[in-house]
Amino acid sequence: MPRYPDRRVPYYICPRCKERSVDIDAREGFSKDAPACRHCGFGFLFELLDDYYPAPDTGFVVTDQERRVLAIGRGVFELTGFGEPDLIGRDVVEALQLSDPKPVELAREWGVRRLGEQLSITTRAGNEKHVVADVFPAYDDDGGLLVALTPRRG
Ligand SMILES: [Zn+2]
Repeated sequence: MPRYPDRRVPYYICPRCKERSVDIDAREGFSKDAPACRHCGFGFLFELLDDYYPAPDTGFVVTDQERRVLAIGRGVFELTGFGEPDLIGRDVVEALQLSDPKPVELAREWGVRRLGEQLSITTRAGNEKHVVADVFPAYDDDGGLLVALTPRRG
């Protein structure tokens, strides 16, 4: 018999340090509305429908519903050459010159995850880099996105 028959257990991930947490009945004391990261103190966690395991070199970009960057996590600078001040407020698709906007658009429009999308980005220095993109829609009213970019080898 399931321990929580009437509700799913939300998963949270910190956009900055990528630390995952599971909120079981708010037992750990953070607010349901705006849980902050207990690990690095970052101001909000991103809620996921299912657990997700980023790679060590994955970098997260959080956007609003207009694809504008709200925050970036560790690893994004190493991957893209862009720091947070370079990206905040910019359209993530344009700023990183994603080779295909479709995964981001599908996640935005339909509210579905897009996993394992083989894309390329252009770094600040103008180099094309191959990445795997995983895109997650936000489940709150803000309707933003979490874009996970992982360098692709070979
Ligand atoms: Zn954190």
